[in-house]
Amino acid sequence: MQRLFEFTDFLEKEGIAPTFHKIETAGTEPEVIINGKKVLMFSSNNYLGLALHPKVIAKAKEALEKHGLGPGGSRFLCGNIDILDELDKETAELVGTEDAVTLPTGYMANVAVFKAIMDPIIGIFPYRKGEGVIFSDEFNHGSIVDGCRLSYAEKVIFRHNDLSDLEKKLKRSSLRRHKMIVTEGVFSPWGEFAPLPEILELAKKYNAVFMVDDAHGVGAVGKTGGGAVEHFGLRGQVDIVMGSFDKALGGMGGFLASGKKLAEHLRVAARPNILSSAVSGVLAGGLIEAIKICRSEEGIKLRSQLSANADYLRKNFNALGFKIVGNGEVPVTPVFIGEESKSIRLADRLLEYGIYSPSFRWPAVPKGESRIRITPMATHKKEHLDALLHAFGKVKEEFKL
Ligand SMILES: *Cc1c(COP(=O)(O)O)cnc(C)c1O
Repeated sequence: MQRLFEFTDFLEKEGIAPTFHKIETAGTEPEVIINGKKVLMFSSNNYLGLALHPKVIAKAKEALEKHGLGPGGSRFLCGNIDILDELDKETAELVGTEDAVTLPTGYMANVAVFKAIMDPIIGIFPYRKGEGVIFSDEFNHGSIVDGCRLSYAEKVIFRHNDLSDLEKKLKRSSLRRHKMIVTEGVFSPWGEFAPLPEILELAKKYNAVFMVDDAHGVGAVGKTGGGAVEHFGLRGQVDIVMGSFDKALGGMGGFLASGKKLAEHLRVAARPNILSSAVSGVLAGGLIEAIKICRSEEGIKLRSQLSANADYLRKNFNALGFKIVGNGEVPVTPVFIGEESKSIRLADRLLEYGIYSPSFRWPAVPKGESRIRITPMATHKKEHLDALLHAFGKVKEEFKL
């Protein structure tokens, strides 16, 4: 039994054990209750405030009445309720592809996709083991790491956003028959975009399938919320856009958006689409409405409020002398702290000052590079932002930052 607990003991000893704070109200609002006390939420991915949007709630309720709580099975069996076709279609339109396959989480989408593309038998090209290789940015999300492991393909890591390193590695593998490049569109812990146009060029040059995980970009950036791909004017040009519904769209779930033919393949080759339950009708109802709002004039206004809030924070964090990670082109605002235990103590202190934004740290980012990742929302008011900055001013002195 002893061995089983070594990991938790280790975390405890290092002072980096996570605290699972209980949030006693909707956790997606700017103001939440923790331990009976009102605090400001600066860690939620509900960028546009859609999680509690009255129209989204109304549509979800309608779908709940019609479909009940769950779908009753996978889409392969009996879970292929009509509302999911509508969700697939709305999702494809949002990110500018012909089609999309929606799944209950983004994690699942990533766990599914690499095997579906690169597996020697069910992948898009039948080939022998050892011929497939995936090029993955060193800072890609853990769900990409897990997905690659299941694929039977070799993984080659390239340095973060480093085009010459990527090209060097592509060249080295030029005799490999099947290649795939994967990057995130928006790297949320680093507050920056990937250079998608240049990576797309490399993907074409070296004949690689190109996938963008745009979990943090979809809904939050791009004129109509189409994400990083829209931001760079690349709608319809990337082979696969993966995304999550639980960030800017305020719900939960994930998707793989692509051309028609590839989507047909993914419907049968993405194993969670066959082996796991479909997205529930209630969720789909709410998400369809959330996507509609996201693409509308209202969505455009919400995004401009979001980026105004982010700009205000960056400007003032800089004025306070904090080191902000990233170039400021995306809404997330990661404040660099460094050592894990320090950022944990700092987050605890922030909570005492009424600010909720837990330490964002290993294994989500490399050891020694922990940060407080501030996620502004369109629903934050100026007084919320000022209260955040005021609290940071205090911890700066106390922690001698
Ligand atoms: C959140 C996230 C995921 C996982 O999405 P879920 O829908 O939360 O499972 C995958 N990739 C990236 C980059 C993410 O930020």
